[in-house]
Amino acid sequence: MTSRDATIELKLTEADAAAVRVDARRAGSGSVQPGSGRTNLFDLSRIELEDFFEQTLGEKRYRAHQVMKWIHHRHVTDFNGMTDLGKALRAKLEQHAHVHAPLVVFDKASTDGTHKWLLGMDPKNAIEAVYIPDKGRGTLCVSSQVGCALNCQFCSTATQGFNRNLSTAEIIGQVWVAARHLGNVPHQQRKLTNVVMMGMGEPLANFDNVVRAMSIMRDDLGYGLANKRVTLSTAGMVPMIDKLGELSDVSLAVSLHAPTDELRSELVPLNKKYPIEVLMDACVRYALRKPGTSVTFEYTLMKGVNDQPQHARELVQLMRAFDRAVQMKGAAKINLIPFNPFPGTRFERPTDVAIRTFQKLLNEAGMIAPVRRTRGDDIDAACGQLKGQVMDRTRRQAEFRKRLGGQGVDDAA
Ligand code: SF4
Repeated sequence: MTSRDATIELKLTEADAAAVRVDARRAGSGSVQPGSGRTNLFDLSRIELEDFFEQTLGEKRYRAHQVMKWIHHRHVTDFNGMTDLGKALRAKLEQHAHVHAPLVVFDKASTDGTHKWLLGMDPKNAIEAVYIPDKGRGTLCVSSQVGCALNCQFCSTATQGFNRNLSTAEIIGQVWVAARHLGNVPHQQRKLTNVVMMGMGEPLANFDNVVRAMSIMRDDLGYGLANKRVTLSTAGMVPMIDKLGELSDVSLAVSLHAPTDELRSELVPLNKKYPIEVLMDACVRYALRKPGTSVTFEYTLMKGVNDQPQHARELVQLMRAFDRAVQMKGAAKINLIPFNPFPGTRFERPTDVAIRTFQKLLNEAGMIAPVRRTRGDDIDAACGQLKGQVMDRTRRQAEFRKRLGGQGVDDAA
């Protein structure tokens, strides 16, 4: 994140501010604008929307399907534009509901086709979403929280502190904004083929809203994505991995970043609560629910920290143990991510030679371990660089700024 972006103020007009104002209920289901008493339909899964039509509007349940298509396939949010609905129903909808998308504060396109949005979630907070086109696919990286409380040491988001969970509407709203921009039409003109919950925040710490949003992503009346094309990435909230396995069938990615507890506890403090063995057991349980399930382990390579041959060998042992436990060769996939530096960080990106050497050691041991290409670094959209604008409630920003001051960096957080 550049210092210009990092210090951007949310200059909202009064009307904008009113439009994005939220009340305390917003972090739960069914966000409502204060005083309006109206339900934001972005907050509702298919079944909840059917219930809403039946119980609140006194309408047939199938009517909900028409409205979902208008919202998610045609990107229409004004009920008057939903022309196959009768006038009386449109009036009823107007009275009880609205479709409120996040405010696009700004968006930027990279020369490599990557696109980043800064989305205002309320007058003080904004998050980032990034679209990454590639051969035959288009992946949207979505945020789940305003900031993050987990404090992973190498993460730019962590330096921003934490404010709150995003509502379902705020999560699915990111997908809607990107889909509208891309002219995405599920099953016809598909530009959005994958969604990864890898933006700001720990998705499993905002479980209900994330699971509901992912159900809309996978619904044919939503964004029609196959289960395996929606990926949830976690730092390792073990009980929630088990809960996710009971309720959902999305792809699981785990931010591993170190092969030993000693090192991982330093990089990912959550490891002190759920050490590697406990985490790997949870991953095995997740994979064993359904034959053929693999789990991706993300490994951010940091110079002199976790990029040595010894680390590669230890990682191989860990991955082999996983494959054995789920009785499937290649069940553990490793994603190598060269560290993307940000102002004030103490970590560095390894040299290309060191990255290739690490990868080679894994490949020679039979591991699939692609190195993730850096995308969108000219617009600060690369992996680990998302920061948005967070009204910190944890005092972490203040501590980070103090630390930076000591390093002679004046404007980085
Ligand atoms: S890496 Fe993920 S879980 Fe860790 S602090 Fe950053 S956003 Fe939170």
